[in-house]
Amino acid sequence: MNLGEFQIIDSEFRPIAPRRGDVRLGIGDDCALLTVPSGQELAISIDTMVEGVHFPHGFDPRSLGHRALAVSLSDLAAMGAEPAWATLSLTLPDGDAEWVHDFRLGFVALADAHSVDLVGGDLTRGPVSVSVQVHGFVPPGMALLRAGATPGHLIAVTGTLGDAAGGLACIRDGRNRTDEDCAYLFRRFERPEPRTGAGLVLRGRASAAIDISDGLIQDLGHILSASGVGAEVEANRVPRSRALLSTFTDDESLQMALAGGDDYELCFTCDPGNYDSLRNDLIGQGVGVTAIGRIAPGSDLALMRNGKGFAPDSCGFRHF
Ligand code: ADP
Ligand code: MG
Repeated sequence: MNLGEFQIIDSEFRPIAPRRGDVRLGIGDDCALLTVPSGQELAISIDTMVEGVHFPHGFDPRSLGHRALAVSLSDLAAMGAEPAWATLSLTLPDGDAEWVHDFRLGFVALADAHSVDLVGGDLTRGPVSVSVQVHGFVPPGMALLRAGATPGHLIAVTGTLGDAAGGLACIRDGRNRTDEDCAYLFRRFERPEPRTGAGLVLRGRASAAIDISDGLIQDLGHILSASGVGAEVEANRVPRSRALLSTFTDDESLQMALAGGDDYELCFTCDPGNYDSLRNDLIGQGVGVTAIGRIAPGSDLALMRNGKGFAPDSCGFRHF
């Protein structure tokens, strides 16, 4: 059934009651009214997803609702910020009520899991596109910046890398989607889990951090240039899931782990003296963590494989 703009807002979005005490006024008026806790900095980030660019045509709306919020929450995690609020701008070709309902279910389920309130948004007609802005808190001076990595610091990543790229490749190659490993990998693309808790563990303890959205090499490169340093990374140490390794060749899965985006794991650097306690705390949260190399003087990323220099086929995703 197709509904008008106001009917959709009234049926799907206006009934969402705020749960947080810091939302003075949520959806329904010209603006939301929010109370920033005193003594905290407000961290803000926005991400847009366009059909055919960030997700395939016909993508499951519930997964899209999850994913659109997840990629924005991932930016807060990479900053060490505690998420609080989100706003949502939806552009759709028509008012497909069932689609919006499913989208909203996916969005709100993840929002609830991270104690985030959806406090406003916009709805317009056009090719499918979703923008989500998120707002979070961080004590002054505690945010995890890209700058701060120092020669000698360890480089580490959470979870496993390359899974989402593998999932997309499964679909593109027409591999059997019902195959358990391909289903796991595609799920990693569909429903990335923002590393909110890990970001809070890292805050004040890691020297730099970024979330891996465009591929490890490219995103680690942002830490290196912001920090004015180089690095040495051992490619074989980059953690790959059993599902990725059993679905693709060693070379293919390595390429995905190094340059495939969309996993939304965190890459961080830290003083080696902090690593063991950080690792214990992350593992205590159920988040795997692997050291993959070290920050070095200079400005180059030296990628090694079995003791030799290694050049991957691609270094990651770029729009332009
Ligand atoms: P305006 O014309 O002032 O932009 P709208 O009619 O677009 O107001 O929106 C009415 C209310 O519904 C506002 O509070 C707005 O934040 C909220 N809203 C509109 N679209 C969405 C959406 N996609 N998700 C959440 N809230 C929305
Ligand atoms: Mg509006």
